[in-house]
Amino acid sequence: MTQSVLITRRIPELAMKKLKEQGINVIENSEDRPLSSRELHDLAQRSTGLITMLSDKIDKDFLAANSHLKVISNFAVGHNNIDSAFAKTLGIQVGNTPDVLTHATAELAMTLLLACARNLQSATQNVKSGQWNNWEPMGFLGMELYGKCAAIIGAGRIGQRMGEILNKGFGMNILYTAQSDKKDFEKSTQARRVELNEALQMADIVSVHCPLTENTRNLFNQKNFALMKKGSIFINTARGEIHDEKALHHFLTNGTLFAAGLDVTNPEPMSMNSELLKLPNCLVLPHIGSATVTARQEMALICARNIIQGLNGEKLECSVV
Ligand code: NAP
Repeated sequence: MTQSVLITRRIPELAMKKLKEQGINVIENSEDRPLSSRELHDLAQRSTGLITMLSDKIDKDFLAANSHLKVISNFAVGHNNIDSAFAKTLGIQVGNTPDVLTHATAELAMTLLLACARNLQSATQNVKSGQWNNWEPMGFLGMELYGKCAAIIGAGRIGQRMGEILNKGFGMNILYTAQSDKKDFEKSTQARRVELNEALQMADIVSVHCPLTENTRNLFNQKNFALMKKGSIFINTARGEIHDEKALHHFLTNGTLFAAGLDVTNPEPMSMNSELLKLPNCLVLPHIGSATVTARQEMALICARNIIQGLNGEKLECSVV
């Protein structure tokens, strides 16, 4: 029987080419929008494999109704949108795309940090709105990053890369949290593993890189933001559900936080009515962490290989469980 794979959004063509070379039929959503849950369900009924996006909700109900699937590969490293434990009980393999987006995402976190530290949002707005009248000796004063203390919340692949950039490039002291010690990271950056409380109390920069799980959902709430140092910067390139946007707004406006840089929001897309969008010290990007040509091409290739392996009944190159 011919195998069919649904790709829920347009991704680099390399994936489709690789799948077709294997004689796999490809159904691609060629419209420039996510599929509705009904469309996703209907197309999945005709497929044996799926390449999904982080915006596709692959929950118990969806999986139970599509238990004929053999493999799902998320076009992302994060896989909180998929109930992979339940998929496993149905014999559906679930894959993701780790490593190939590590540099892209750490570089984006760095971009947000630099932009926040130097008031880039207000400064570009000043130029564009015709208010640049003079060189300002006291205007746009930002935070110098060199020698500061940074906390990496979730020192995995992306968090460690961010820590290396901050330590090697900016002479920063690095604190980190994780579920286990990262000895090589400690050796190369003199980073120290600490409890979350200590990380938040000591750091000038807090950068979030942990996955969204039941332990990290709403981790940055009123209580934990209150522990952060006066004048510190909060960066989140992991998942929006890890921070509480109301609490973040409070600490950005009461003089505690100098600025926040978010690549991820809750919900996504962010509401245009979000109070955070009105703040000059909150920079928001539309979830573009892995959006480099190189990363997205490699992600497409891993997805194709994951699918081919899954359809052949082999173990996936990048499996989430
Ligand atoms: P990773 O290598 O698995 O790293 C995640 C780290 O978080 C691990 O070191 C893990 O510790 C740690 N962790 C888990 N639970 C924690 C907790 N409760 N408190 C503190 N640390 C905890 O994953 P990655 O490749 O670096 O990706 C990290 C996340 O970034 C992804 O899950 C995804 O949500 C997000 N992401 C976003 C974008 C974007 O476009 N903005 C792009 C890529 C990834 P242990 O190693 O000790 O288990």
